[in-house]
Amino acid sequence: YEPSGPRPIEKLSKDVINQIAAAEIIHRPSNAIKELIENSLDAGSTSIKLTIKDGGLKLIQIADNGHGISREDLPLLCTRYATSKLKAFEDLQSLRTYGFRGEALASVSYCSHVEVITKTKNDGCGWKAHYADGELVSPKPGVPPDPRPAAANDGTIISAEDLFYNMPLRKRAFKSASDEYNRILDVVQKYAVHNPHAAWVCKKAGSSLPDISTPAGSTSKANISLLYTASLAADLLEVPITVLQPQYLGASIRGWVSNANTNWARRGGWLFFINNRLVDSTKIKKAIDSLYTSYLPKGAAPWVYLSLDIDPAKVDVNVHPTKSDVHFLNEDEMVVAIVGAVQTALSNANTSRTFTVQT
Ligand code: ADP
Ligand code: MG
Repeated sequence: YEPSGPRPIEKLSKDVINQIAAAEIIHRPSNAIKELIENSLDAGSTSIKLTIKDGGLKLIQIADNGHGISREDLPLLCTRYATSKLKAFEDLQSLRTYGFRGEALASVSYCSHVEVITKTKNDGCGWKAHYADGELVSPKPGVPPDPRPAAANDGTIISAEDLFYNMPLRKRAFKSASDEYNRILDVVQKYAVHNPHAAWVCKKAGSSLPDISTPAGSTSKANISLLYTASLAADLLEVPITVLQPQYLGASIRGWVSNANTNWARRGGWLFFINNRLVDSTKIKKAIDSLYTSYLPKGAAPWVYLSLDIDPAKVDVNVHPTKSDVHFLNEDEMVVAIVGAVQTALSNANTSRTFTVQT
């Protein structure tokens, strides 16, 4: 054909499609961590332990004590669009799990070497399996393909090695393993504050001293004290569970926010969960920041943890694979109502401080 003429249209192969999707869903190690943590929580885990090498680029390992995966499900585990959480599109309206697309493990297997060891309560022994590009593979040539029996505790251990080994450009973009590790700690910390019922550990491979360690059955406030600073926790104001008005929003909010004495100068002071999912909501963050400008000195920043519970029928989680941005009905009213709840906490605190000074 002519160089200036049209080129023939061809269908992309399944592997190319899946590799493109993987690159979109897993931008960096911390995206994979978030997906893996959500899977562990979906599995009902009360203990989640992460081991990280080279900021997650060499190794991400997550060990949980959740319900495990049945042997029969292992062949489909890393297949794209294979999930145990969603059947019909309508189910999205009543979704209570983090996952639903069945894309996370597939994506991880398209950009790293995945090993899974899992055991359910009813299984006598555990099972081990290796995956590449969505499929079960043999661990080495000449060995029959997985899964194979393995010693294991109840729960699941997923290891992803050599992230982006097949995407050299992406891999080269990561200059600093310690910066990636800090992003991972940021995500784990936030989930630990929001899920204090579970014990959390995050450490670098080979290190005996974990960077994050919280006990099971803790509280959000105790975990904030452990993971952020004790002085921040001491100064926090509670936003008690508040049903947002008007009633038809079908939403409630709760959380902990810093007071007028705190300046959270570091990164990572914005923890916002919608139906237990960590999301960035720029709109709500801006509104809260601007509320604080009347309480804080110029240039100072708040620390804010808010958990919004909302009727799943009113949120659209089906927006982007990374699911960090979700949309909901009556968004503007919701922003006003959320700011109102935080303002109440802040102004109650101001009143009580004046009172203390006077006595
Ligand atoms: P999704 O979470 O959207 O279903 P994933 O690719 O993250 O998709 O996971 C695929 C399936 O693998 C899940 O639906 C679940 O059945 C199973 N799974 C993944 N991780 C775990 C885990 N840690 N414990 C138990 N089951 C898991
Ligand atoms: Mg998932």
